[in-house]
Amino acid sequence: MATERIDNPFTQRRAQAASPPREAAPAREVAPPRAAAGGASGRDLERALPRAELRLRAMSGYEEEVVESRRRDANTAALCNEIVARCSVAPGADFDAAYQRVRAMSTVDRDAALVRIRILSLGEVVNLDVACPACGHRNEVDFKLSALPLPEGPVPAEVEIGLPDTALPPEPAPRTALARTPNAGDQEDLLSAGLSSESARRTFLLSRVLLRYAGAEGPFDAGFVRALPIAARAAIERAIESAIPDLDLSMAVQCAACSAEFSSPFDVTAFFLPR
Ligand SMILES: [Zn+2]
Repeated sequence: MATERIDNPFTQRRAQAASPPREAAPAREVAPPRAAAGGASGRDLERALPRAELRLRAMSGYEEEVVESRRRDANTAALCNEIVARCSVAPGADFDAAYQRVRAMSTVDRDAALVRIRILSLGEVVNLDVACPACGHRNEVDFKLSALPLPEGPVPAEVEIGLPDTALPPEPAPRTALARTPNAGDQEDLLSAGLSSESARRTFLLSRVLLRYAGAEGPFDAGFVRALPIAARAAIERAIESAIPDLDLSMAVQCAACSAEFSSPFDVTAFFLPR
């Protein structure tokens, strides 16, 4: 699913749980076409992007060929990481070191870098042709990237979690856990792992990001996090979720024919390639 790239690694759970959005989160269910909704000005966008110390350039034919050959790959995170890495060095230059730097970025910073590259390359208007899921009408929508609600402030590297009573071991122990926030490399590897269930994906990520649990020091393997009480797993995820701001590159659309509101997933081709 192309949409997985654009969400933070725990977002699927958030969406399915239908929990109320965090106060700071843009209201995703209010979905006028964002192109018409105003929002941050281009100047705000420039100021906010990119937070990472990356000197980015417009895409060249090298990246165009990469995008075209891999646009149907399931792992859009890998593709996006590579595009950001390539566009932070000269066209055709070795990008291995840059790739490692991108993998260490927060997913939000990586996505912000992608938006910046897109604006440098093709401008800020993404033209979409999407079919309405309710009536089938083909909607042509111009989506302005400057209207994206950008998260503010840096993503914390680590979060401390207060563990619920039900998640504490029988012997006296510190009531907290410590986790780092997932990065662009975690997201790429998660998609590569091809895990079919939410809980397996949760286990995969938790085993990578959990640093300390009730006094025990990590690293922890999959067996450890699988054995944790579900209340603890949920508490850790919630803490991480609320620490990672949303930069949602899916596009809110209102059907011109039937007024149904829906969200069009991130479209690699529309985003990266000229029409
Ligand atoms: Zn419709």
